[in-house]
Parts: sequence; structure tokens; C-alpha cells
Amino acid sequence: MKTFLRLTAVVRPYYLWMGLAALIGFATTGSGIGLLVTSGYIIAKAALLPPPGALQLGILGVRFFGIARGVLRYAERLIAHNTTFRILAGLRLWFYDAIEPLAPARLLYYKSADLLQRVVDDIQSLENIYTRVLAPPVTALLVSALMWFLLGVYSLQAALLVMFFHLLAGLGIPLLTMKLGRGIQSGIMDIKTNQQVLALDLLQGIGELQVYGKLPEHLAAMQGNEKEMLGLQRRNAVLDGMHESMTGIIMNAAVIAVLSALVSSLPGSGSGGISFTVITLAVMASFEPFLPLPASLKNLEADTHAGERLFEILDARPETTPPVKPFPFPANHVIRMENLSFTYPGSPLKTLDNISFTVEPGQHIAIVGPSGAGKSTITSLLMRFWNTREGQLTIGGHDIGLFDQENLRRHIALVSQKTYLFSETIRENLLLANPEANEDELKKALTDAGLGHFTPKLDEWTGQHGMKLSGGERQRIAIARVLLQKAPVMILDEATANLDSITEKEVTATLSAVSSGKTLVAITHRLKAMEQFDNIIVIDKGKIAEQGRHDQLMRNNGTYRRMWDLQRSGKDS
Ligand code: ATP
Repeated sequence: MKTFLRLTAVVRPYYLWMGLAALIGFATTGSGIGLLVTSGYIIAKAALLPPPGALQLGILGVRFFGIARGVLRYAERLIAHNTTFRILAGLRLWFYDAIEPLAPARLLYYKSADLLQRVVDDIQSLENIYTRVLAPPVTALLVSALMWFLLGVYSLQAALLVMFFHLLAGLGIPLLTMKLGRGIQSGIMDIKTNQQVLALDLLQGIGELQVYGKLPEHLAAMQGNEKEMLGLQRRNAVLDGMHESMTGIIMNAAVIAVLSALVSSLPGSGSGGISFTVITLAVMASFEPFLPLPASLKNLEADTHAGERLFEILDARPETTPPVKPFPFPANHVIRMENLSFTYPGSPLKTLDNISFTVEPGQHIAIVGPSGAGKSTITSLLMRFWNTREGQLTIGGHDIGLFDQENLRRHIALVSQKTYLFSETIRENLLLANPEANEDELKKALTDAGLGHFTPKLDEWTGQHGMKLSGGERQRIAIARVLLQKAPVMILDEATANLDSITEKEVTATLSAVSSGKTLVAITHRLKAMEQFDNIIVIDKGKIAEQGRHDQLMRNNGTYRRMWDLQRSGKDS
């Protein structure tokens, strides 16, 4: 119930539209009833061979209701779809706004297929909350009130009887269907998520599954899922059939009951026969809006489940929040870590332990160390992906928590090991770094990044995830992005680790050229061209083992020297 109320709060901005659509929906059903009643009236009256002109009113009614039904149905669909798409757009924006601050720290705990399912399917399920969940009961209620009013004129007993059967069809059957079908909709949604997770694992890890002989096991899990899904869908179909036929039975019972109640009060011939026909048709038509009610309750379960899954993400507290009064990024952006320790949530060990170093503006430093030493964690802290917890991390003398994350990330450019390229053109991928960049700036950035030959191909598609480009070209696009970003600080996190040695050499040279005049933090476990750095910080198991310039560290004969010798001897690369 709490989730449902939260969901109704989310769609509150569209209440006016929803109200209008519900009213028109009611008018459409009312016109349907009117059309049946007036048609029945004409046929019944005509059978009595009335004088010419006696059918005029009925014919007028048929014309009116016939046209009104068509026009109103069109208007209702138009407004209902318009409302649905407004809700969908609103929900998407609402969800993206809420999810953005959670990236990347909080989103690490979700499987990507699961997240995708929530972003796409759960939101899509909610887009219909109006048409499938909220609108049908409102229309049914209004039609029931209309019938109460119309039949009440003839007989209170008949009106009470219709209300009873409406209650049976509108509450009894939906509640019974809900009870019998409890868990089906949420089960289908969970299985769908599972299917997507398994399918994505299969697509991305088919090589590993084959090599380790786990493919049959994985396929069996997928089949098991499919079987479970079929079972639930079968139960769902049986229930659908059941509630439809039960509503039909109730409708016929209502007609018989009402006619039995009226039989003594209506004249046996003439107008009595006409009334019989009209009432029978009106009662039958009044059940039309009750047909979707069981589905409404089923959809309520699905929507509530989708809402729960979305709220679960949205209720997660972002790791970092913007400060109330953010500091602008300082020109004198000296970066200082003092006695900083960091432990990932749930991890028993400190990833960083008592780290202290300083990077003056314009300085180039390297952070080196074996894999898992904690180098990338330093990047994450500098980018404010995670909050610092113990010790100090300041920029220009201000705690990093006092900078707005977005502003900070505009001033600190990051080139990581794997550059993500969107399935877009080169231009779109570059504009990500600076949406205001003009044609000349884009071309210059490409040229400076060593991709001068790409300048005529700005509008060429980069392929799925940039697969039409080589690894070196993708890294150069990342460099072009950094150039467009015009950030004073650059972090290179294993930026050339995935490249072959010739490309690595070329990209490293480009990086050296583009980083001149900027503050540079280069993170690497491969000791290459280390002489160029003003300071090298050696991290081992989260602690600073030593720091200094290359020559000094070589003379120290410590961890750095051992890494150097190991790499030169070819035992480590
Ligand atoms: P590499 O050179 O292999 O990239 P690294 O020195 O950059 O390694 P980090 O990525 O900083 O190392 O990881 C340091 C330690 O923190 C590792 O033991 C890793 O398993 C752990 N770690 C990294 N990210 C998380 C996380 N989100 N949650 C928990 N532990 C993490």
C-alpha cells in the first residue's frame, strides 16, 4: 500500500489529465449504453407498428450516441495516450535524476541486466499505471452510479440488484482473481530479470562458459527459468479466462434478477415490452467497464512490484552529495592527501592506509605499485566517486567534500584503461566532454590527439561501443575528450595498459604533449618513461612504500627498484 501511495504521488502532476481522460472514458461507455438502449428501443417499438414519427426520438438518439461514442472513444484514446506518454517521460526523468547521484559507488552493487530491467521494463510497466490500474475502477464506478440513477427511476429494487451484481463483478471477482493469482505478476517480472541476467552472461561470457565446460549448466538454468515462466503464464491465462467467464455469468444473472424484479411492476404488453428490452440491454452494457477490473488488480500487483524495485534503488543514499555551499575549483589547485585511509564498505581490510602526498599545480606525478595496491582507489577519491572517511584530501586547501561533484569532474579529466564510446558518431562522443565545442575545436582536439585523419569523419558511426575503432584510436578519442574538456588536472589511470607496445609508445608521447602545462597524476603498474615525473609515489598493499624522483628511488634500492628490475628482466610486465 505504501508503495502504491508513493507511486500515485509520482503521477500526481498528471491528475488533471487523468481526470479528464477518465471523464471522457465514462462518457464513451455511457454513449455505448445509450446506443444499445436507443437501438433496442427502436426495434422493440417498431415491432408494435407505431404511427409514423413515433420513432423519431429513438432515431435521433441512435445517431447522437453512435457519433458521440466514436468521437469520444477517439478523444479518450488520444488523451489517455497523451497522459501515458507524459507519465512515461516524467517517470524516466524522475528515475534518471534520482539514479545519477548513485553512480558509480552505489550502482556497483547491482547487476547491469537487473538495472537495465528496472530502467526499461519496470518504468514501462508503470507508464500504464493510469490506463490499466487507475482509470478502469473510476469508469466502472461512474457507470455503476449512472445505472443506479437510471434504474432507480423505474424501481429501487432493480437498482439495488444491479448495484449488488456490480459489486460482485467489480470487487468480488477481482479480489478472488487477485487471491488466486497472488505472486504471478511479480514472479513473471523476477523471472524476466533473471532471464536477462542469464542471457547477458551468456552473450558476454560464452567463451569462458565453453572453456570451463559450464555452457550446458548455464543453458539448463536458462531453460529452468523459461519453464517457470511458462508455468506462471499458463496460470495467468487460466485466471484470465476464469474471470472473463465469471463476469459473463454475473452479467446474465444480473439481467435475470432485474427482469424478475421488474416483471410484476411493468405492464405485460406495449410499453412493458419496450422497457424490458431497454433495461436488459442497459444492464448488459453496464458490465463492460467491469471486465478489465480483475486485470486492473493484477496490474496493480505488477506495478507495485515495479515500484518497489525502483524505490529500492532510489532510496539508496548516494555515496557523495553536493555541499550546501560549494567552493569553486581553485586556480591554485594544490592536491594534498594527509594521513588518508580508506576501506570499502563491507571490506575487512583497509584499501588505503595512512597515505600522504602533495601535487603542486603543474606538477606531474606518478602513482605506481602492483595490481590491487589501491592506485585506482586514489582516482575514485580524487573524482569524489567515494567519500573520504579517515584523514584529509584537500584541493587548494579545501576539503574535497566542499566541491560540487560535477564541477570537480569538469576540472579533473580522467583517461582510464577502457574508454567507453557510445554507439554514436565521433562528434557525439566528443561533444560529451564539451557540448559547446564548435567544429574547429573538435577538429583541433582530434588532430592534437593524433587523429587528424578522423576530422573528415566526424559524423561517422563509431560502431557498437566504438568497435569500429582500434584500441589505440579509442584511447585517442579519450585524449581528444580531455583536450576539449580543458581541465587543468589530468588523471591517467592505466591509460595505455591495453595497448600493444608500439601504439602504447605513440599514445604515451601524445599524452605527454597534451599534459604539458597541466597537473598530471599518472597511475600505472608498468614503469615506463618514469624519468619525466616530478614525483613517483610507490604504493604497496595500500601503504606508501616510498616516494621521490626516479633516480632517487633507483638509488634507494627499495620496492621501486625491485619492480623496475623485475620488469626489465621480463618476469613482470
Ligand atoms: P590494478 O592495478 O589492478 O587496477 P589497483 O592498484 O588500481 O589495481 P584498486 O582498484 O584500487 O587497485 O583496488 C584496491 C583493492 O580494493 C583491491 O583489493 C580491490 O579488490 C578492492 N576494491 C576495489 N574496488 C572495490 C569496491 N568497489 N568494493 C570493494 N572492494 C574494492
